[in-house]
Amino acid sequence: MASSGRLSATIGLGLLAVLLTASCSFQKANAQASKPSFNYTQGGADWGSLCVNGSFQSPINVRTARATVNGTIGPDSSFVLQYERLSNYTIVNKGQTIEFEGGENNNLTLPTAIYKPTNGTSKLHLLQSHFHEPSEHLREGVAYPLEQHFVHNDAATGRFAVLAVFYKIDDEEVPNPFLSQILNYAPGGYNNKTVVTNQTIDLPAWIPINSNYFHYNGSLTTPPCTEGIMWFVLDTPLTMSSAQLTQYQRLTFLGGGDRGDNRPLQRVGTRELQHWIK
Ligand SMILES: [Zn+2]
Repeated sequence: MASSGRLSATIGLGLLAVLLTASCSFQKANAQASKPSFNYTQGGADWGSLCVNGSFQSPINVRTARATVNGTIGPDSSFVLQYERLSNYTIVNKGQTIEFEGGENNNLTLPTAIYKPTNGTSKLHLLQSHFHEPSEHLREGVAYPLEQHFVHNDAATGRFAVLAVFYKIDDEEVPNPFLSQILNYAPGGYNNKTVVTNQTIDLPAWIPINSNYFHYNGSLTTPPCTEGIMWFVLDTPLTMSSAQLTQYQRLTFLGGGDRGDNRPLQRVGTRELQHWIK
């Protein structure tokens, strides 16, 4: 966990400011030029000046054989999702992804073995959730069709934690009902078009909280690729139908022949990859 301490010393409240600034300038750029400030047409190869150049970048290939087993998931080693039902949620079509807001009272509490800030608690607030197609992280070298990110922030320390969940196509082509509640109400058009739904989504029922998980220290996967992000990649993939994958592609500009909205794999280097298992 030496890397975690080093990371926490290098980031702070400034990270939130960076993110908010990036978000604002992104919207401004869209309003002016009707196109995003970055895209995936070169797979992120042209993001050089937009991204920090560090050795703690994301995404990575999550390999079980590479990971250190950090113990049995129990009351003290499991993260706790304190999610509530989310009503009248806002969905934004950013072109590169579909994003929905996290609501007022949805939190993630991390194991103190992973995150124990000196100021505040181990609790982080859910800011938003969005998707990448195909998956950004690989599992044993293989990509899943879709990956969802739940982005959490600890306002007291400026730290971020992202929960990553893979999706695979269901053998019987059964659609994922929670995904439908996002995709069926997402606005068309790429220019940060926003819709406030009159729906309620059952967040606690969506996420497999009893899943084993991997943990490592990485970065945002979009510019400015800020480091110091605590990643939690769930072992258990969720399922969806291939029609839902097509629906996502058509909603975003990925349906227009773009290569996907996944950043290419980054080097793991000497980083520790932890596997927390039952
Ligand atoms: Zn993401």
